[in-house]
Amino acid sequence: METVSEPADQREPADPREQGDRGATGPVRTCVGCRRRAAQAELVRVVAVDGRLVLDRRRRLPGRGAYLHADARCAATAVQRRAFGRALRVPQPDPGDLVEALTGPAPGA
Ligand SMILES: [Zn+2]
Repeated sequence: METVSEPADQREPADPREQGDRGATGPVRTCVGCRRRAAQAELVRVVAVDGRLVLDRRRRLPGRGAYLHADARCAATAVQRRAFGRALRVPQPDPGDLVEALTGPAPGA
């Protein structure tokens, strides 16, 4: 087993495009799929666990997180663009069942 020390810093790198756009809605994040900005509360957090992408609905998992709309299309787009690899600094993250998890049991669909 190889022990990798995770940096405790969960802050995202400062993005100048996000400056001055913080209203009363709280922190704003860019969806790694569609690249649109949204309030962090509207996005789901994704982290890589052992190179596998995991939906962190409770935002409690340690490590670097990527933010994404809770939308399978955004997840699929992000996977196609390899955006998770860049955001999470994982060379080739395994998407696992991330897209399926976001597709979920869609009521009425
Ligand atoms: Zn999106």
